Amino acid sequence: MFLRAARLGKVVLHIGLAMVQGARHEHGEALEVAATQLGEVVTVHPLRTAADVEVDLDALVLPGGESTTMRLATASGGLLEAIFAWMEAHPDRPVLGTCAGAILMAMPGEGRTAFLEIDVERNGWGRQRRSFEADLAVSLDCPSPTETMQAVRSTLEGHTALPVGGEEATGETMHGVFIRAPRFTAEPRRGEVIARLDGEPVGVLDGARLALTCHPELTQDRRFHRWLLAEAASHKAGR
Ligand code: GLN
Repeated sequence: MFLRAARLGKVVLHIGLAMVQGARHEHGEALEVAATQLGEVVTVHPLRTAADVEVDLDALVLPGGESTTMRLATASGGLLEAIFAWMEAHPDRPVLGTCAGAILMAMPGEGRTAFLEIDVERNGWGRQRRSFEADLAVSLDCPSPTETMQAVRSTLEGHTALPVGGEEATGETMHGVFIRAPRFTAEPRRGEVIARLDGEPVGVLDGARLALTCHPELTQDRRFHRWLLAEAASHKAGR
């Protein structure tokens, strides 16, 4: 990766990926596809302990999982606390949180100020068997692919990502996968809604923070990962 970047004379974007739970490898794959689509070069840094966050990250992905488990599992290693401290120190560096990641951004806990001002209800659509897929209306300003490559299989840490289905939708629709999803119970008090399901908010953008209650990494829709990389690249160019 570094050699290729050096050869291309490109800046490498360093993306942190919290490796606690959930579809982490699919996010890794999505980042690689999005980078290829945009002609960017990324290094994905798996984050497991607080020390892993000390790399100079340009952006961060908080995958889904079970937010309570994620809080407990990271308590001893201090990972979540280190991630939250990084987010507080770098408000302009983009963060994409999906599902439980969205819960953590809206409710970091431990007396921290929320990163997103929106009310969220855990498992707000019902339990596991009420998980569902549905088409969303999306309005996110993000670059289109300049390369059409879609089929990268992530080899992050030697794991192969789950095969994900479908094609990236064009325009303002997107297929949403909701797994024991949280539910935004009101409009955000700050920021804008960038995805809706039957009129209700399921995606919120506030500055450099984007939270979705669904799982774009389990579809072929890479627009959110392209948004993350484009934001990271433009912020890095301005530093
Ligand atoms: N139900 C989970 C929680 O409350 C979130 C589910 C998910 O991330 N897919 O943390």
